[in-house]
Amino acid sequence: MNRSVVLDYDGTVTEFDLLDRIAREFGDPEVYDEVERGLDEGRLPLREVITREFAPVTAPLDEVVSWVLEHSPVRPGFADFVGAARGAGWDVRIVSSGFHELIEPVLARAGVEVDLHANRVDPRPDGWRVEWRYPDECDACGESCKRALLPPGEVVYVGDGYSDRCAALAADRVFDDETSFEFANPAAVVGPGAAIASDRPLELLPRLAAVVGLDGALGGFTAFAEWRRPGAPVPKDRDFALSLGPVVVTPDALAAELTSVVHVDGDERLQGRLDGFAWSAARDLAARGTVLRPGDLLAGPAAGRVDAIPPETLVELDVTGIGTLSGRTRQTTARGT
Ligand SMILES: [Mg+2]
Ligand SMILES: [Zn+2]
Repeated sequence: MNRSVVLDYDGTVTEFDLLDRIAREFGDPEVYDEVERGLDEGRLPLREVITREFAPVTAPLDEVVSWVLEHSPVRPGFADFVGAARGAGWDVRIVSSGFHELIEPVLARAGVEVDLHANRVDPRPDGWRVEWRYPDECDACGESCKRALLPPGEVVYVGDGYSDRCAALAADRVFDDETSFEFANPAAVVGPGAAIASDRPLELLPRLAAVVGLDGALGGFTAFAEWRRPGAPVPKDRDFALSLGPVVVTPDALAAELTSVVHVDGDERLQGRLDGFAWSAARDLAARGTVLRPGDLLAGPAAGRVDAIPPETLVELDVTGIGTLSGRTRQTTARGT
């Protein structure tokens, strides 16, 4: 079977998001702010955001490439990583929403030859024209997206941005970076069978949660359904209902292969995997600069996403060896929350 490591470029292979910085440094900061807001609020697709951000860039390509080489080198160890992955039988490829014209010089200087899929840009003096090279409508997200470019076989996907989300959801293993850590609201925790109030259709992200035991050890695991309200302003779109349960299993009793299945009013809507996450590393990261106390919870990555769950609906998350965590959505009126 084919095995591939698929890497995002900006902010993943490089330390900084070069595409973002060029749009700000060489483009029009006002246009940049406006379209980024459109992206955050779900009004603008990424393709339009990037096209509009680069339209005010008029600098010669040479000048921008020099700037890029100075400001956005690849991460230390990248060449070693590519060599080691290939040595272990993995293909390595980069999929980027950025441009060949800006990425190739950086990879060449780092001495790394890697299969690259990216957009292209025509650096015209009256404004850069983006030549978009991704398929038009993704079956999963409806946007022009990286998912269709995932190779067949086993995929490890590494990325940090908006354009990585859909592709990452299709990967066998996903590693977030350390900046993705966030705290959640303990008052939002509810148990099995809870009513989940909302003024709109909800989304559910099935996860596994680890329960911290004595001295920061991983004491047990349970199913965790994170509810989201799409369209509500960030961060009020999340952290209002975190379902946990129905039981906690000890680490030695946790199944090696963990499947999650989500049923909505009895219909199967999503199947995914919850194993393969580096829990000890996540615990160490969470413990940095603080103290983990018995009963604290750590949430793992989501095994996909179920969207458009209407009010008055029974939702069940089954996780191997843990059981069924149910919840029922309940209609409320819109209110400023
Ligand atoms: Mg990125
Ligand atoms: Zn997609």
